[in-house]
Parts: sequence; structure tokens; C-alpha cells
Amino acid sequence: MIVIAIANQKGGVGKTTTAINIATAMAASGWRTLLIDLDPQGNASTGVGLSAAQRDMSSYDLLVDQAPLDDCIVSSSIPGLDLIPATVDLSGAEVELVGAEKRTHRLREALEAHEAHDICFIDCPPSLGLLTLNALCAADTLMVPLQCEFFALEGLSQLLQTVEQVQQRFNPDLGIIGIALTMFDRRNRLTDQVADDVRECLGDLVFEAVIPRNVRLSEAPSHGLPALVYDHACMGSRAYMSLARELIGRLPQERVAA
Ligand code: ADP
Ligand code: MG
Repeated sequence: MIVIAIANQKGGVGKTTTAINIATAMAASGWRTLLIDLDPQGNASTGVGLSAAQRDMSSYDLLVDQAPLDDCIVSSSIPGLDLIPATVDLSGAEVELVGAEKRTHRLREALEAHEAHDICFIDCPPSLGLLTLNALCAADTLMVPLQCEFFALEGLSQLLQTVEQVQQRFNPDLGIIGIALTMFDRRNRLTDQVADDVRECLGDLVFEAVIPRNVRLSEAPSHGLPALVYDHACMGSRAYMSLARELIGRLPQERVAA
């Protein structure tokens, strides 16, 4: 299983929207996909239609109580897409794990021998705490949604520093599969400028596909559906399909074939 963490310590940059829609696109392309909600807000869980009452076992049980992985997985309404949901309990996990044994490697160990899925996406919370650290230790690679706004690059350098530390201390093989520009607004000259700056600075690391600001993407979660299901033809859904194709092209080919 290929594990991809979707992280950026800034809130509201499109992590969850990206996690939901990329995971849906991969499932639609025939990949057995697992989405792990690692944000106490549980927006990824809600976004694929899982109500709070349906969250019996969650990522909290997996990390804090080390519950068996299979017990924490539920199927979503989307064929091929399974979920480990998050509940508000998870907000306590950062504190509860502080003194715990192997606190940074809980998720990695849980996922290690898992073969029932081909690919796993982890929707990280907006911080660089223990939850995100667990995701970065468990991941083969990282995908970073970056909102086209003025301070985008500043926040990114902090994230890249954390990645370097994780590589040095915990997970030397952690890669960065790409940076996805989100909430792009063609009519706004500033977002255009930011997109150009980011590309100049980071080159090929930035995905060609750009996610536009699109109201259908923000409406979909209130219907408990990924935008790709809610309105598969809208600009946002098309952009996420392109992003998924590009992502597949960047995955290690021997693992794509396997
Ligand atoms: P994060 O997980 O990084 O906090 P979200 O994916 O939850 O970010 O996005 C923050 C808000 O912006 C949500 O209300 C979401 O629906 C909305 N949103 C995300 N991406 C887009 C987009 N491309 N166009 C319009 N709204 C978006
Ligand atoms: Mg989120």
C-alpha cells in the first residue's frame, strides 16, 4: 500500500477537500483506497457522508488505544473508498500521546502489514503536532495543498523544515510527491502572481493541475458527498481528476503495476 499524507500546517488551504476528492478519484480509477481522517474536526468523515453516529471506532482508537486497524475501517458510500473516521476525541490525542511509548510511530505500525488497500490518503490537522508527525512517519510521501495567497511560501518553508527533521530522525524515505495549488482565481492578479512565484521557486514539484476556486467544491460537503460525486462535471471536479492522473504518473511505477 502506498501511503500519502496530505499536510500543511495552515488551516483552510484545501487539505480536506483535496483528500476527499483525490481519494474519490483514485477509487473511481479502480484503486482500493483508504482515507484516514486525522483531523479532530472530522470534516473528511462528514464529507464522504459518515454522520457522527456512524463513527463507532475512529482514528483516536487506532492511535491512542492501538485498536486493530481492521476494526477502525468503515466503508463509505463511494465504491472502492473506505474510511477511518475522526471524532472530537482526537483533539485530546496530542496530549494523551505525549508520554506514550512509540508515540510518533503509532500510525506507521498500524499500517505496516496492511494489504487490503492499494493506496491510503491521510488528511492531517492544521498543525505540526503529534498527529501530523504520525502521518509523516507513516507516509511514503507527502502531498501539500497550497492556497494561492500572499503568505503561502512562508508557511511552506516551515513545513519543509519539519519534513527534513522527520527524514533525519524517523523516516529517511519520506518523499514529497508534489504541491497542489488550490483556490486559484484567474480573475485575481495576486493569486496569479503567487502561482508564478511558487512555480519559479519550486519548479517541477508543483503539479501542473491547478484547483480553481469553485463553489461546487465548497457546497458538496454539506450534502455528504465528494464534489466528484455531487457534480462530476464542475470545474473543481475536473481539476481533481487531472490532479489524480498526474499523481498516478508520479507514483513509483513498480508499485502502480503491482
Ligand atoms: P483544510 O482542510 O486545509 O482546512 P478545507 O479543504 O477544509 O481546508 O477547505 C477550507 C474551506 O474552503 C472549506 O469550506 C472548503 O469547502 C472550501 N474550499 C476548499 N477548496 C476550495 C476551492 N477550490 N474552491 C472553493 N472553496 C474551497
Ligand atoms: Mg481539513
